[in-house]
Amino acid sequence: MKLKLAIQKSGRLNEDSMRLLKECGIDIGNGVNKLKAEATNFPIELFFFRDDDIPQYVEDGVADIGFVGENVVYEKAKKVEVAYELGFGKCRLSFAVKKGETFTGPSFLAGKKIATSYPILVQQYLNEHSIQAEIHEISGSVEIAPGIGLADVVCDLVSSGSTLFMNGLVEAETILHSQAVLIKHKNFSTEAQQILERLLFRIESVKKAKKNKYVLLNAPNDQLEKIIALLPGMKSPTVLPLASPGWSSVHTVIAESDFWDMIEQLKNAGAEGILVIPIEKMIL
Ligand code: ATP
Ligand code: ZN
Repeated sequence: MKLKLAIQKSGRLNEDSMRLLKECGIDIGNGVNKLKAEATNFPIELFFFRDDDIPQYVEDGVADIGFVGENVVYEKAKKVEVAYELGFGKCRLSFAVKKGETFTGPSFLAGKKIATSYPILVQQYLNEHSIQAEIHEISGSVEIAPGIGLADVVCDLVSSGSTLFMNGLVEAETILHSQAVLIKHKNFSTEAQQILERLLFRIESVKKAKKNKYVLLNAPNDQLEKIIALLPGMKSPTVLPLASPGWSSVHTVIAESDFWDMIEQLKNAGAEGILVIPIEKMIL
């Protein structure tokens, strides 16, 4: 059998979804602009859909799994399971007001016209704060609504905020932080589950590798103990003697987040010739 994976046909998630599969060593055979494509070296079949339709297709079992934004998953509220956070497609769903207006809290929205592509999530927010407001559902270019007098406020996806800025809007309040996730059909055969686990194992290795760097450095032997104490390492660092007497080469893996702090401390401890190398896959 083949696991059926639904991804966005074109748009912001398409490229990252395809790249992730490639980094997992999965080669997609025929063209990408069709409805379907098959992997040549992994039991997986790709379906290309509009992102909005992916939760429905996964609920119905047309696809077994899908890569889609959490914003779409929660808005559509289909019976699917969120199985894994993929780490790309990060954005937030935020209210934005016209420049010069001050958002004073949820009560600011009372009686306002809100333009959004996320009526369900916006209504949930209004209910939680017992606010009555008018929601105008618009499927695209929500940010132009206030400028043309269609709405007072928008609730839209934001990443850098430049689209809002260009339309004279200011981000006011975030109601959801989102990223792409792997969603899963409710009923899974043992065989499908096994393929999914193989896929998740690969995705996890790629994700871990991106968060870590391989570091090589030269250490004077009299500082070796101090330098090793600074390093986390997967088990413990590798230490090899250098040709020049009194020096050793130390190899280890450092988390991206600790990286700059760690490098400074290593330099202060006498480390020299520090090389930092990206890791392609990491199997623990
Ligand atoms: P489709 O034609 O598939 O319906 P779309 O126009 O609805 O495409 P895109 O704009 O390609 O969708 O966005 C797809 C997803 O990318 C969003 O649902 C969201 O999860 C994510 N995303 C990340 N950053 C942003 C952003 N700045 N604006 C909009 N979406 C973003
Ligand atoms: Zn869409």
